[in-house]
Amino acid sequence: MAGVEREIIDRIEKTGRITKEELSILLLSSDDKSMDYLAKRAGETTLRHYGNKIYIRGLIEFTNYCRNDCYYCGIRKSNRNAKRYRLSEEEILSAAGLGYRLGFRTFVLQGGEDPWFTDEKICALVSAVKSDHPDCAVTLSIGEKKRDSYQAYFDAGADRYLLRHETADEVHYRKLHPPDLALSNRIRCLSELKEIGYQTGCGFMVGSPGQTMETLFLDLSLIQELSPHMVGIGPFIPHKDTPFCREAPGTLERTLRLLSIIRLIHPKVLLPATTALGTIHPDGRKRGILAGANVVMPNLTPQHVREKYELYNGKASFGEEAAEGLGALSEELKRIGYQIAVDIGDSKVPIVCGRRWPKIAAQK
Ligand code: SAM
Repeated sequence: MAGVEREIIDRIEKTGRITKEELSILLLSSDDKSMDYLAKRAGETTLRHYGNKIYIRGLIEFTNYCRNDCYYCGIRKSNRNAKRYRLSEEEILSAAGLGYRLGFRTFVLQGGEDPWFTDEKICALVSAVKSDHPDCAVTLSIGEKKRDSYQAYFDAGADRYLLRHETADEVHYRKLHPPDLALSNRIRCLSELKEIGYQTGCGFMVGSPGQTMETLFLDLSLIQELSPHMVGIGPFIPHKDTPFCREAPGTLERTLRLLSIIRLIHPKVLLPATTALGTIHPDGRKRGILAGANVVMPNLTPQHVREKYELYNGKASFGEEAAEGLGALSEELKRIGYQIAVDIGDSKVPIVCGRRWPKIAAQK
């Protein structure tokens, strides 16, 4: 490994900062040794803050109806080939009940932006899950809403919210989204979620069309500014019925390098080894954990609709990616020295309410 790469990695670990040039050097390097060293430093950082515990979140994908038309996403509204579904409250509660019996203590309710699920319905759903399982955390991931809606879900008992910012670069954002969506609104949402008191997660796809070193550097700068509790990154994978059907997917290597860099810059952040990472490579999730990730989100969606939540081609949702495969996942993790945590797994990043993030992309 070139000495300069080792020096950069050591410096990032020491200072928690990275320059654009350093980011380019680490991401453009094809040196396996530097990748191993980066993963080693990141893995040790995770162990220092979280021990060898991997947090599990049970993912319930409760609707694939979406009013948005993001160019990368398989459930975008213009995709006439998508077979649409909505789970009933009963089905969602039964999925959570199954998850509870399997050992999950966090449920992530994720869906497209589906207006059928009004604020009243979402609040009723959140209260019902919390009253069935008062010792569990509920995470919502249902897109951009008004502040009052976020407040209502929070008052109903929601603890956490995942909303990837997708890209911190305005020009890149325009390439990925139709004109009715705006980066400034996404940032407004993230800002309000954190002010309300949610444990908040942002994130982006690695290798989305048009992504450059510059856009990635802006992503890292935005994450620095937001100081979220979770950062969700996974490779972009094309879907055949989207405008990006012929684009190349993001790579395992770049995703792993970025996971490690994020871990070194944000030692206490929750970092999932995502489904997309497990989809592009059979060992993707395991490699993600060895590179500094400490969360996995097995799929608890009822099996008869699971394949319909197809964000990208080949999305893994069975085997060890599935909640039913928890035993196999646990064995796999044990082999690399990790174990599944049974507690709700709060982030160690403190919750700071009432703070605004006025800078960066929101002003562009
Ligand atoms: N509607 C909610 C939202 O907008 O945050 C949650 C659902 S959305 C489908 C969840 C995430 O899937 C997005 O934030 C995006 O990063 C990811 N995603 C969508 N299409 C993808 C693709 N082709 N490859 C990888 N990830 C994708």
